[in-house]
Amino acid sequence: MERGDCARGVMNLARLESQQQGSSDSDTATAAEAIYPHAFSGGRPSAGADVYLREPLVRKLVEFFESKGLASIKEEDRHEQWYEDWIAYQGTHQLYARLLSPREHSRLGTEFDLLRYTRFLEVCGYFSPAHGYSLQVTFLGLCAILLGGNANLKREAIAALEAGGLLAFGVSERNHGSDLLGNEFTITEAGPGRFVAGGAKYYIGNSNSASIISILARKENARGTGHSRRAPIVLFALRPNESKGIGGARKIRTMGVRSAFVGEFEVKDHEFPESDMIAEGRQAWDAIFGTVTLGKFFLGFGSIGICEHAFAEAAAHLRGRMLYGKPAIEMPHIRATMAQAYARLTGMKLYAYRALDYVHASSAEDRRYLLFTAVQKAKLSTEGVKVMALLSECIGARGFESETYFEMALRDVQLIPGLEGSTHINLGLTTQFIPRYFADSQTALAVLPSLVAGEVTSQENAYLFEASTGSISAIAFPHFLNAYRPLITIGNVRLFAQAAKAFQLLARERDVSRTMRPDTPPTLAMGQCLATIAYAQLVAENVVRLNVPVPMVAAIFHALVNDFSAAVITLGSCSGSDVIRPDRFRRMIRVPRISDSECEFVSKQLAGILPSDWRQE
Ligand SMILES: Cc1cc2nc3c(=O)[nH]c(=O)nc-3n(C[C@H](O)[C@H](O)[C@H](O)COP(=O)(O)OP(=O)(O)OC[C@H]3O[C@@H](n4cnc5c(N)ncnc54)[C@H](O)[C@@H]3O)c2cc1C
Repeated sequence: MERGDCARGVMNLARLESQQQGSSDSDTATAAEAIYPHAFSGGRPSAGADVYLREPLVRKLVEFFESKGLASIKEEDRHEQWYEDWIAYQGTHQLYARLLSPREHSRLGTEFDLLRYTRFLEVCGYFSPAHGYSLQVTFLGLCAILLGGNANLKREAIAALEAGGLLAFGVSERNHGSDLLGNEFTITEAGPGRFVAGGAKYYIGNSNSASIISILARKENARGTGHSRRAPIVLFALRPNESKGIGGARKIRTMGVRSAFVGEFEVKDHEFPESDMIAEGRQAWDAIFGTVTLGKFFLGFGSIGICEHAFAEAAAHLRGRMLYGKPAIEMPHIRATMAQAYARLTGMKLYAYRALDYVHASSAEDRRYLLFTAVQKAKLSTEGVKVMALLSECIGARGFESETYFEMALRDVQLIPGLEGSTHINLGLTTQFIPRYFADSQTALAVLPSLVAGEVTSQENAYLFEASTGSISAIAFPHFLNAYRPLITIGNVRLFAQAAKAFQLLARERDVSRTMRPDTPPTLAMGQCLATIAYAQLVAENVVRLNVPVPMVAAIFHALVNDFSAAVITLGSCSGSDVIRPDRFRRMIRVPRISDSECEFVSKQLAGILPSDWRQE
């Protein structure tokens, strides 16, 4: 079978499936355009951005930033100045309330529509990640409350949003980082149904302005026997404007999201009633983990938006930059590097919006999303850093000029892998999935319909606000090679599938669940290998559903085969790793190919991010 046949095969399969689901060819064509990187600014947005701009809340967002202009955004960034105007604007239009309120509590008749929310996050990242951060943190504060058991607080939080307010999530402490059991913020019982809280929090977004901060604390007994890692944890609602016990509040100056407010504060002798308790014990842990699971996933859409804007700016600059009598973008190595960046960024969108299908369809019976949210954090956010590095190689000095979006993007994109659980933590979590992912389960799991392809309508998933932590060993996956079958005639996909198969054999030999200690270099390297395989799986699933042309698929899998080979070399060479048999090693380390015509195809495609009249602000 030739590649052209394969392309037709892939298209026919996707068309057939979408017709079976009731969506038309033209819908699929528009949806397919939306999955490529887009420009949302600069006078006229790129063609596929229409799908985003049809959403009224996204249009409101674009109107604000277009009227504000990049120069003002950069000015605020330079002066680390809080964006009052945006907070007032979003409040007037009730943007955060409309995006985040679940159906059950919304008095505006809205719901927590997942596709709308993630597209909004992408476009917000495109204009200003710092502004997006106030929404991200509001989501975290709200989600913790929604996952708790206090109905009055849920209503109060939604009412605060509908009045234009913000929320915050107060988990981190200066001396304890990711070690939540080490946290020292405490509450003690002061009498029946009354508590006194004290401690300090650090790195808390929106702490200058939140109506409610969801605070993680330990519940010590009244005899004051001192701090204990075994004391039960609680989440309670702190209203900074109403409490006299808050002091020492200040902004922490960060390299990225500089106009946002990330702060520290102390709480002393803050008395509160039982009705401010969000959750205790097991329910409080579930609320923290459920919130972080979603929060870390949503951050990835911000990464995508950051890379899209930086891409559009770099491409425009390189088109206008004349070197040796030609636009710089025509130099072969610049062309090839920009094509690589474009293929990686398209891969990020294909992955993230397919992972969204798993979040959208998740239930107590289907918790596969727990792997894909960890991979979004571990792999996709670092892909964003790689895309920025590739673009930076091409754009040269212009990317460091302080008037550009680009120099802000270079700083902001690097924050994302570290927030809401680091890359390490998520690689460790990914490793735990290895036995289940490769179990060759015969379970007949439904093939999930695609939101972006219009095979299903986006809506709220109430399960996400009641999800509790549970054993990973009960999660089933279909055969891990299924996703590649429709694409197997594409050489780089075939190489990837062969390497993944060899890794399955290696993982079985190592019996990961019983023999590997957590947090060691070999464990994290195994996690990196599985993260790359799970990432490729979802990219492949979306490629088929969205009719992505073969040369683009070849370019995306070119990068994935390289990434997988690099992960295997790290695994084979890190301290403490068992020696990998040479024959197994050879099967996992592959050399992908990309032809001139495939590279040319991607280069032509990337011009689509810019409308012909695109101007740089
Ligand atoms: C801009 C910004 C905004 C933030 N906003 C908020 C907020 O609104 N609310 C909030 O509560 N927090 C917030 N944080 C805190 C953020 O979530 C922290 O990064 C987090 O608490 C982890 O602490 P740390 O980065 O100091 O890393 P540490 O926990 O000190 O980790 C140090 C190193 O150890 C590794 N490590 C730690 N634990 C593990 C593990 N279990 N397995 C493997 N490796 C591990 C890490 O990967 C890292 O490399 C924010 C941070 C920043 C920078």
